[in-house]
Amino acid sequence: SKWVYSFGAGHNEGKAEMRNLLGGKGANLAEMASIGLPVPPGFTITTEVCTYYYDHEKQYPPELRDQVGAALALIETAVGARFGDTQKPLLVSVRSGARVSMPGMMDTVLNLGLNDQTVDGLAAASGDPRFAWDSYRRFIQMYGSVVLGVDHHRFEEIIEHVKLDRGIVEDTGLTAQDWHRVVDGYKEMVAEVTGKPFPMDPAAQLWGAIGAVFGSWMNARANTYRRLHDIPASWGTAVNVQAMVFGNMGEDCATGVCFTRDPSTGENIFYGEYLINAQGEDVVAGIRTPQPMAQLKAKPHERSMEAAMPNAYQELVAVRAKLEQHYTDMQDIEFTVQQNKLYMLQTRNGKRTAAASLKIAVDMAREGLISETEAIKRVNPSALDQLLHPTLDPKAPRKLLSKGLPASPGAACGTVVFNADEAELRAAKGENVILVRIETSPEDIHGMHAAKGVLTTRGGMTSHAAVVARGMGRPCVAGAGGVTIDYGAQALQAGGQVVRAGETITLDGATGEIFIGSVAMVEPQLSGDFATLMEWADKVRRLKVRANAETPLDADTARKFGAEGIGLCRTEHMFFDPQRIGAVRQMIMSETESGRREALSRLLPFQRKDFADLFRIMVGLPVTIRLLDPPLHEFLPHSEAEIAEVAGSLGTDVATMQRRAAELAEANPMLGHRGCRLGISYPEIYEMQARAIFEAAVEVAKESGAAPVPEIMIPLVATRRELEITHNQVDKVAQEVFAETGHHIEYYVGTMIELPRAALTADRIAEVADFFSFGTNDLTQTVFGLSRDDAGKFLPLYVEKGIMPKDPFVSIDIDGVGALVKIAKEKGRSVKPDLKLGICGEHGGDPASIQFCEEAGLDYVSCSPYRVPVARLAAAQAAL
Ligand code: ADP
Ligand code: MG
Ligand code: MG
Repeated sequence: SKWVYSFGAGHNEGKAEMRNLLGGKGANLAEMASIGLPVPPGFTITTEVCTYYYDHEKQYPPELRDQVGAALALIETAVGARFGDTQKPLLVSVRSGARVSMPGMMDTVLNLGLNDQTVDGLAAASGDPRFAWDSYRRFIQMYGSVVLGVDHHRFEEIIEHVKLDRGIVEDTGLTAQDWHRVVDGYKEMVAEVTGKPFPMDPAAQLWGAIGAVFGSWMNARANTYRRLHDIPASWGTAVNVQAMVFGNMGEDCATGVCFTRDPSTGENIFYGEYLINAQGEDVVAGIRTPQPMAQLKAKPHERSMEAAMPNAYQELVAVRAKLEQHYTDMQDIEFTVQQNKLYMLQTRNGKRTAAASLKIAVDMAREGLISETEAIKRVNPSALDQLLHPTLDPKAPRKLLSKGLPASPGAACGTVVFNADEAELRAAKGENVILVRIETSPEDIHGMHAAKGVLTTRGGMTSHAAVVARGMGRPCVAGAGGVTIDYGAQALQAGGQVVRAGETITLDGATGEIFIGSVAMVEPQLSGDFATLMEWADKVRRLKVRANAETPLDADTARKFGAEGIGLCRTEHMFFDPQRIGAVRQMIMSETESGRREALSRLLPFQRKDFADLFRIMVGLPVTIRLLDPPLHEFLPHSEAEIAEVAGSLGTDVATMQRRAAELAEANPMLGHRGCRLGISYPEIYEMQARAIFEAAVEVAKESGAAPVPEIMIPLVATRRELEITHNQVDKVAQEVFAETGHHIEYYVGTMIELPRAALTADRIAEVADFFSFGTNDLTQTVFGLSRDDAGKFLPLYVEKGIMPKDPFVSIDIDGVGALVKIAKEKGRSVKPDLKLGICGEHGGDPASIQFCEEAGLDYVSCSPYRVPVARLAAAQAAL
């Protein structure tokens, strides 16, 4: 079978679609070569060889050697140089490349094929002995550390020694002879450390490097990374062997990494860095300061590639256009310029911030590179979330603590926490935390996820913290060198100011600033590209999107975000107000109906105003109001003062009240006296709420002319009879109010479907329901027999062990909960073909759950106001 695929060497055997076989790097090198871009010739050893290798006790397939030999010969012909030749040696790079780019894999080895003889050939052929010896020492250094495992400090020591001896400060001051001395030192040291002479045979070098790439697939770092990112070990890595091109041959040579557009803003401009007379990783290693690509982005002291190498730059500009045309996406590319000639060494779809992904999608659609539909698909709905969050109010007062790198945009405010486990623990309790670390590693990912923002004192824009935070959409300030952290003392300090664990700081990930205390924030920009994409999404989606909102503020936000009504107004949230809680308690604690009625009459005006406010904001749109649901104990008086107060208002004594409170206590409140059970045992409660709704609706209808459409929702219905009773109650109040006011309002009465029995008997329930709204939070609890408040103790373990694919409270359990939703839909619509169906609860804003709702044929989803745009986009994607 075929284990080796050539690229650029006369013919291209691979293409972009062959990523699984050739790895991402190899597949795209072949693709670039086949569209005529200048790619140094090479070949890819497939991921199947890696699998074979591990299935056969680290043996290669027998045909491999010959196939590698043949592919190498093709490179030799293409380049006109021979591997191991002493006159004109071919040098190659050996590069790993899995399906997805993966830190933890073996680093690239450059300049492979050099030895004591070929180095002279390279010197003669290039006419530049210094270049040849510099390349040789680079090779020994890379091969020595990457393949032979020699500590890189050992190499640095030797260079330092030669520099000191020669009184030279910069590497650039070293001559060919100096590098020769370095090489001698290296070889001696490697022999001493490894117990074997440095391999001089180019073939041995090549197979050593290939073996090291395959070996690195199972090293600890790679295993950890795979575990964290759900990458199966069976995927394997490919190995790319490619003719070297040299960016280190002089001032007309360079190497660089760049993006075809700005990955943090999306701006349509070349973005990246390059270095003249440099090789490989010099750009990211930070030894010399890389320079910008475009002149437009160069500061006065910088030398852009556009200015320094106009010809190569123009070639690159053409490549950029060709790549974007071809891949129709922003590319992250690596290139080298050898004597003014451009070579492409890598391309892949570039990672980008949420803001950039939005701008790039909209721009590309406008430029005609992609369709509007494609633009809708390109933006991850969850990433939109980031754009919808507040940034620091420019006018707000603030106290600067220090500054780091603006590693991931967005503002975050929270209490300082110094380790990931604690960040997770506190966040689970609802606290906003900022994870503060000297640097982060893969072990901190759960804490970064839980935190509102991340601060590190070490590392750059490409450090672990920066990369991971950008990926997660967490604001991050990285490499804040002015801040010192004392983990022992649980404190950080900067410029003499100390902040302890538990104290509040604010981060601005867009500027890198760190502030003491909290800083006021402003609402995000919802115009421009955002509005455009939303418009496109609205054109294609079928599902309506409503919001869960109780307060005028939430309702306003929801409208601004494009909500098409309220899908869930939880009236119990309106009862906790300090002005009302007294009356609420009085109502609950009263042992007589008259006592309850008196308390309720005090609550009526409050509720009426609540509803009127919502109706005014949602004028002309449906507003679903759920009647009182929570277990009564949530409102019980707790402190002695509270009990005394209620006793006073009811004209009774503290002892009676304590007895009453004990009576009301429940063993299992979530399955207790709540929802319609409450409305049936105390009908006056729902009567008051219904009256408040109808009076408010009439009031708003009279003042605005446009009548609101209340949808009154009865919670926790398990049987048809429960809904029938409560529905009749509501109708009776409606008739009373309409008679009193002489005004008639259109309204609906429906139910939550949040108990399995309700779903299973939905045909019976539908006879007395105008609509269903799936309350998937409670439905998930009751289907799994799982309390949401207690699940935190074991659910993460379940997810980690794969017992459950995802947290079912975050993403709907399609097999179980979803099956009940479908049953209820079918049964309900069998009785009432146009029964309106919606979903409220956390799932209404989750893209995967929205996809399910689309497939299940629901009419709308309802979610928290901030998630409305996410839901609009997800609904559009689900419809495509
Ligand atoms: P990574 O996956 O870490 O980016 P690469 O295999 O892309 O590793 O190699 C890193 C760098 O090495 C490249 O960006 C390029 O500068 C250099 N490099 C790799 N192969 C060659 C080559 N054939 N000629 C010149 N430079 C090369
Ligand atoms: Mg690398
Ligand atoms: Mg690379």
